[in-house]
This record gives sequence, C-alpha cells and structure tokens, in this order.
Amino acid sequence: MAHPESPVLPQAAGPLADALAQLHKAAATLEISDGLHQLLASPRRELAVSIPLRRDDGTLALYSGFRVQHNFTRGPAKGGLRYAPSVDLDEVRALAMWMTWKCALVDVPYGGAKGGVAIDPREHSKSELERVTRRYTTEILPIIGPEVDIPAPDVGTDEQTMAWIMDTYSVARGYTVTGVVTGKPLSLGGSQGRAQATSRGVAHIALMAMASRGIDPNHATAAVQGFGKVGHGAARFLAEAGVRVRAVSDVDGAVYAHDGLDIARLAEHVDRTGSVAGFDSAEAIDPGSVLTLDVDVVVPAAVEGVLTEDNASKVQARIVVEGANGPTTEAADAILKDRDILVVPDILANAGGVVVSYFEWVQANQAYQWTEREVNDRLEERMAKAWHDVVAHSGAHGMTYRESATVLAVERVVEAHRLRGLYP
Ligand code: GLU
Repeated sequence: MAHPESPVLPQAAGPLADALAQLHKAAATLEISDGLHQLLASPRRELAVSIPLRRDDGTLALYSGFRVQHNFTRGPAKGGLRYAPSVDLDEVRALAMWMTWKCALVDVPYGGAKGGVAIDPREHSKSELERVTRRYTTEILPIIGPEVDIPAPDVGTDEQTMAWIMDTYSVARGYTVTGVVTGKPLSLGGSQGRAQATSRGVAHIALMAMASRGIDPNHATAAVQGFGKVGHGAARFLAEAGVRVRAVSDVDGAVYAHDGLDIARLAEHVDRTGSVAGFDSAEAIDPGSVLTLDVDVVVPAAVEGVLTEDNASKVQARIVVEGANGPTTEAADAILKDRDILVVPDILANAGGVVVSYFEWVQANQAYQWTEREVNDRLEERMAKAWHDVVAHSGAHGMTYRESATVLAVERVVEAHRLRGLYP
C-alpha cells in the first residue's frame, strides 16, 4: 500500500502491505511522529542467505533463506521459521512485524522476528531437510541466540527442525544451549503443552468470542481451514467443547459433515494418508468454499491472504478467528467490518504458541520443568487477559478488535522505546 502522506515509508504488496496498513492506522490513532512510524515500519535487521543443498542423488540445489528481526525494544527477537516455496523477503518482513505486535499484546518480553526458506518440505527427504536446516542455521548463527533471537516452528517446520537448529547452534558454541529455540521435543528441553499451545489458545479465544455474541458452543458450528499444527488442534478443542466442526480443509482437499466431523478419526486418516481428502465419513467439498460455509465460526488456520475482497462478502459466519497469521487482507477486513462480522485478529487469536514458547524459554533458562497443568493454566490466564484488554479497548474507543489489538501492542512498544531513549 502506498503512503502518500509519508513518502519515506516502504511501498509493498501482499502481506507486507496489510501489515504496514495496520501499523499506519495505529500510528495515526496514537499520533506517532513520522520518524518513529518509519522506525516501526522497518525491520531492525535482516539477513538473506543462499543455502546450497547436496541432494540425496548427489546433485546440488540452491535455496534462498531469510531471517528478519523487526524489533528488539522489549526484549530478544522471537518468531517462527517457515519452509514453503512461496517464502520471500517481504512475506518474512510482514510476519516479523506481526510477531512484534503479538509479543507486546500478550505481554511477553520479546521483540519480533521471522525466518523463512523458499523450499517445499514435501519434496525432500528427512536427510535433505536436515542438511538444509543445519546449513541455514550456520548461515544465521551470528544473529541468533537465547538472548538475541529465538526461532520456533511455523508452517512447514516442526520439533525435529528445532532439534537440528539447537544441535547445530550448540556444536558451534561448544556446549548445549537449549534456550536458542522453542518448540523443541520434550526430551530436549521442550515444554509440556507447547505442541498444542497455538490451537488451545485459538479455541479459548473462539469460545470467549462465542460467549460474547451469546452463542452456546453446544449449538454452534464451525469450519476450519488448514489441518496442520494450528488447524488440527483448533478443530479438536472446539469439538471437545461441543462445537460441531462441519468442515476442514488442507492443501489437498476439504471434507464436510453436516452433523460434525469426527476429528479423532479424521486425524487417524490424515496420519495414514497425509491429507483430509478421501476421509470416508464425510463428503468431499471444494476447499475454496470452507471459509464461506453456513457455520457460526470460521477459523482460517493456514496461510496469509485467504479472505479477500472476492470472498469476504460471501462469509456467512458471525465470527472469524484468525488461527493463521495475516489471513484477512485489508480490503476483506473493511468488508467484514461493514457486515458486522466479528474478526478476532491473528496477533490475539494465535498468540498461544508464542506464549508457551516464552514459558519454554523461561524453563530452559531456569533448567526447571513445569507440569502440563501449570503451562495450560498460565496460557489460559494470559489469553484471557489479552482478550479482555482488547475487548475493553474496543468498547471504549469504538474500534474493531484488530484496530484495538494493534493500537495496544504498538503503544507498548512505543512506551518501551520512549523509556529506553535513543542511543546515541
Ligand atoms: N510461529 C508461531 C507464530 O507465528 C510461533 C512463534 C514462536 O513461538 O516464537 O506465532
């Protein structure tokens, strides 16, 4: 989006344009100076690397990787690492900025970062992914560390990826550094409850949103886009709360059952076949229709830019809970606002992941493990606090939840910046 009144700001399209437009609105509300606005719109540090891979057949392939550190004002940079063919620098910049606001909104002492490698993990063997991960880690090693920048899983990466990063970093340092990544396997200093944390948080938020609109979960229906780390758990936790999850999609297809899908059986099918497609106790539907089905709640839990000006006017749900980062474009957001559809923004709805990442990092730093109960209780407490902050702000200022969440987050970063002052 162009910023005619601030020609110094970056020009962008796609998710970065959405992120910049959200910041732009918050900056106007908070009457932030042009200089500070420009600072918040720009990454503090970014690194682009080439990653050569010796493939299993002996040939050489080259991939592009990035690590963008958007902000360090409130603490070390924090954010996931994404493996997807569509990854580019602008996408990683947007995702890094959203991490800064997310961490500030749930009040964990971090800035924001994101990493990405433009690679399709489904096209590679485990040993190829290990070599890519170790080489990428080696390239970004000078700018990560438990007090500097702490990666975590995101689309296309998992706890095995984090174990390889931790090992590569630790070998280079000469001792084991568990706090350099979060989302690790439990046996390597991972936290109880981390794997399900994002989806557990999405479900908490969805249930609070339903309660605020007078919707009883036992009479409610939902549709979930994506059946990965976020979508699967969100569908499961919503179903456990009594919600009929009518439809779920993934990159290969979508399935529908009017009376609600059996999520446990669907998960077994996905474990066996790799996709929701072909699940026998449901009807196959067009994956493009999942967000516009006749349900109470839709949960986009895959990637950015899926609710657009083309489909936002067709959304039938009363509530959209953003499990993914950046699923709603600026144009779609305006349409949903006009139609009085409640959108719970990503930086609130999916913050459970980074909240438990923070708990994992605290546990690593203290070399002390919490119980799953402690983790889940503290997660719920943090999500509820952030939810109530956003609802109260939105009520007091007549803003959408996204506008309020962004204003609250930006305000906290600006306050930290003001207190620290500018060096030199
Ligand atoms: N990738 C997740 C997110 O987008 C988690 C990040 C983290 O735990 O650092 O919030």
